[in-house]
Amino acid sequence: MRALLIATYEMGRQPFGLASPAAWLRNAGVEVTCVDLARERLRDDSVTQAQLVAFFLPMHMATRLAVPVIRKIRSLNPSAHLCGYGLYAMLNESLLRDLGAHSVLGAEFESDLEALAIALREGTPPPQPIADTALPHLAFKVPDRRGLPPPTSYATLHDSTGSTRCVGYTEASRGCRHTCRHCPIVPVYKGRFRVVPINIVLADIGNQVEMGVRHITFGDPDFFNGPVHAIEVVQRLADTYPDLTYDVTIKVEHLLAHAKYLATLRDTGCAFVTSAVESFDNHVLEILNKGHSSQDIARAVASCRTAGLVLTPTFVAFTPWTTLESYCAYLQAIASLDLVDAVAPIQLAIRLLLPEGSSLLTHKEVAEVVGEFDKNMLSYSWCHADPRVDALQAEVIALVGQHGTASRRAIFEEIWTLAHERAVLHCPPLARNTQARVAIPYLNEPWYC
Ligand code: SF4
Repeated sequence: MRALLIATYEMGRQPFGLASPAAWLRNAGVEVTCVDLARERLRDDSVTQAQLVAFFLPMHMATRLAVPVIRKIRSLNPSAHLCGYGLYAMLNESLLRDLGAHSVLGAEFESDLEALAIALREGTPPPQPIADTALPHLAFKVPDRRGLPPPTSYATLHDSTGSTRCVGYTEASRGCRHTCRHCPIVPVYKGRFRVVPINIVLADIGNQVEMGVRHITFGDPDFFNGPVHAIEVVQRLADTYPDLTYDVTIKVEHLLAHAKYLATLRDTGCAFVTSAVESFDNHVLEILNKGHSSQDIARAVASCRTAGLVLTPTFVAFTPWTTLESYCAYLQAIASLDLVDAVAPIQLAIRLLLPEGSSLLTHKEVAEVVGEFDKNMLSYSWCHADPRVDALQAEVIALVGQHGTASRRAIFEEIWTLAHERAVLHCPPLARNTQARVAIPYLNEPWYC
């Protein structure tokens, strides 16, 4: 029994979503080949020899990139059982079925994928997919990273000293206890999360350290969903690997509620905290059900600074409620909070994505602007009531794309000028930040979800 596991894109990381099921399948006696198309080519013989070809679809971009590959694999090996698994597999089940997928598995997929492979090997009917409401509690296994490109093939951390570090990736929890309306995790996990045992997390990190990794990205949707578990993980991490650094994602609400833990993050090697700030506009934050206000953002920024932690915010800069004036106010808020160097330029261009299953689709203010589902973009289209806002977004994203190697500040200044011009507003000089660019650690992989 041969299984081919394919990833198309995972934000410059060695795909956890291949390594974890590979451990389950190999443990069940399945011969596994892993291919990360973001870093290597697909060999025809690995396709033609596989009885099961499974695509890891954790995010929107990965799913879009998988579509032509699924078509190619169907023509190369029409008898292979095709499967999609991961967050976006469930959200795009009908599309995957149309493409010829025989099985579509959810976010907690390892056990189901193993059962599917065993059924195919034994010639028994493939197991039925779990009910939408069920979310299994898996007995997690240590991911098996054999056969994947080495960590040196992936994104690198540029740390606060100007040095680079080889980056690894793991997850200490999966899912999320929150229900932000724009988040693709919500339709699948529905406010639930699962904790990965500490010994599994540390063993996975240890394996990556042996491969040269010196920084770990914790991919937990929110590291503080289970703060006691999270703190135990990083304390054990620091005890075991005192020179290792790491980064985590924590929502504003949790940064404030668990502020007492921020110093521990700093002391255990946290290089930076990503936080989905999304907007400074309280109306937009309310529609997104983010659980924080613009005032909370300022408090969280201050809290992180006091603790000596670098905060790197992410945004949904363009929404149906963005105006030319509010976009300028958004840039002003970034500048006032001294965050210009902490914001990756792509964040200044992100447009609200409405994938299949998005909870936002049922919100009355979204229903007024949303169009048809775009099968190429794998999202619902929407146009801003003011075409000048859509035009500005197109200009901003083009500008970001053209200036890939420029400093964040230089790109921000160009967007600052452009936005004020388009809004026909006086363009005030941009205040100098107090922090030097080199002091902000960052991963050298553009961010697309
Ligand atoms: S807190 Fe983050 S991961 Fe959780 S639902 Fe909100 S956006 Fe999604």
